[in-house]
Amino acid sequence: STHSLDSGSTAPLAILREVFGYEAFRGPQAAIVDQVTAGGDALVLMPTGGGKSLCYQIPAIARARAGQGVSIVVSPLIALMHDQVGALHEAGVSAAFLNSTLDWQEALDVERRTARAELTLLYAAPERVNTPRFLELLDGLAARGKLALFAIDEAHCVSQWGHDFRPEYRALAVLHERYPAVPRIALTATADALTRADIVERLQLQDARQFVSSFDRPNIRYAIVEKKDASTQLLRFIEREHEGEAGVVYCQSRKRVEEVAQMLADAGVNALPYHAGLDAAVRQRHQDRFLREEGIVMVATIAFGMGIDKPDVRFVAHLDLPKNIEGYYQETGRGGRDGLPADAWMAYGLQDVVNQRRMIDESPAAEEFKQVMRGKLDALLALAEATDCRRVRLLAYFDETYGMPPDAPEGEERAPLMHCGSCDNCLSPPAVWDGTDAARKLLSTIYRVQQQSGIGFGAGHIMDILRGKPTEKVKQFFHERVSTFGIGAEYSETQLRGVLRQLIAIGAVEVDAEKFNTLRLTDGSRAVLRGEVPVRLRESVSQPAPRRSRRER
Ligand code: ADP
Ligand code: ZN
Repeated sequence: STHSLDSGSTAPLAILREVFGYEAFRGPQAAIVDQVTAGGDALVLMPTGGGKSLCYQIPAIARARAGQGVSIVVSPLIALMHDQVGALHEAGVSAAFLNSTLDWQEALDVERRTARAELTLLYAAPERVNTPRFLELLDGLAARGKLALFAIDEAHCVSQWGHDFRPEYRALAVLHERYPAVPRIALTATADALTRADIVERLQLQDARQFVSSFDRPNIRYAIVEKKDASTQLLRFIEREHEGEAGVVYCQSRKRVEEVAQMLADAGVNALPYHAGLDAAVRQRHQDRFLREEGIVMVATIAFGMGIDKPDVRFVAHLDLPKNIEGYYQETGRGGRDGLPADAWMAYGLQDVVNQRRMIDESPAAEEFKQVMRGKLDALLALAEATDCRRVRLLAYFDETYGMPPDAPEGEERAPLMHCGSCDNCLSPPAVWDGTDAARKLLSTIYRVQQQSGIGFGAGHIMDILRGKPTEKVKQFFHERVSTFGIGAEYSETQLRGVLRQLIAIGAVEVDAEKFNTLRLTDGSRAVLRGEVPVRLRESVSQPAPRRSRRER
């Protein structure tokens, strides 16, 4: 139970050893703990598994022992709160949480213990923090000098540019306004430059010291393959490299989750579905099995994963494109938390690009917001189409130069590295070809067909014309008379799909979702037609798709 240990040494290293049983701090932990224990503010950017929890738990214990009272930890993750409070109890630290899982009697009890400053750490859900009742509780503590620290976990949730915006986080600015003397530490495992700046502004952390760790996860091997028959490709990947191992497969829709889980199960893989449409009890059961049993493959929407700490996830697969690099990094980061090799595998194709673009275009958001989202999507597409090292690209997105980590020991000679040696592009450098000619032919075809027929057509039909295939539809519309008919016969359909993917990615072709996904030219088409924008493409490395034995998408 929880007694005595809250008194004792206030020295961070002593607390680390006595309470947590660890020998030494890791990386920047010591500096962060010192900063916060001394009453300063901190913004901590540290990848998953880096050890963020101790960065606020140890200052909380030190400050409680020094008579400064209760530390408040804001977290959106109920499961994580429960785990951490349980672990703290075992270590003899008095901690509790306030969230929707408590009944009023239990909540009242926690509030009483908080008011008496009996707790060292109080975990609270963000929506609770800005309630009059909670603020009154904090007022009472502050008035007696018993409010020790605010820790804001998953701080990227405050930013609408992040991948997991939660409006309740905005209200957390009140903490600084109301209790300016109380130190704050904000923590996150993903934040690109834009999100980072937004966290600083929204939470008023201008004076906080920033601690930026390397975002590299050296044991994760990145691979992005061209999507043909995604289900079959996934099954092959699992059978070939991860038989009997635990993994997570991310899909975009609930329907797709169900289909893929069923397909894997039919093929003998121990797969379970997880999405928000399932019964809460079923979801819980699947999650428990994933955590406790060995070798379960969880097929899920992104509703799954936040706060789930399973060390031996050996692969994370994406069957659909995430929204942006932050999402991709966060989701793939759930693999290999134990430091052993893990695969981040993604299949992506033309339809993904079309879908993601359309989702942005059709969203009711402000145009400025859509612009930012398009920019973020483009960065992800550039990563997917990259022919050079994925790790170098991924880190560069977080402003990190591979080989020169921001947390490298001082005085150590460092130089940028161009190859990680473990991603797909490093292991087998893809052949690259110049797609400019093919791109111009494609654009011309779209233009001429529109001119001739007065309506637009979809990707398949345009490619048929370019490759000179006299299909029924081609004949019906007299498209064998279009001057570009057959002038792209030397290109395979795969190659042309790649070209089209890039053209859509760079905005040189638009897909009209309201008109059956027909293609049309944009202002950006002209530059490509004039040859001002080079189109460089990876030669497809994947094998032609096998005949589909199971249902199509
Ligand atoms: P994060 O929240 O950054 O993903 P955690 O705080 O959950 O990471 O820590 C990841 C793991 O590393 C946990 O099992 C934690 O106990 C362990 N850990 C953290 N710091 C240390 C340390 N200094 N020495 C040994 N183990 C540590
Ligand atoms: Zn590499």
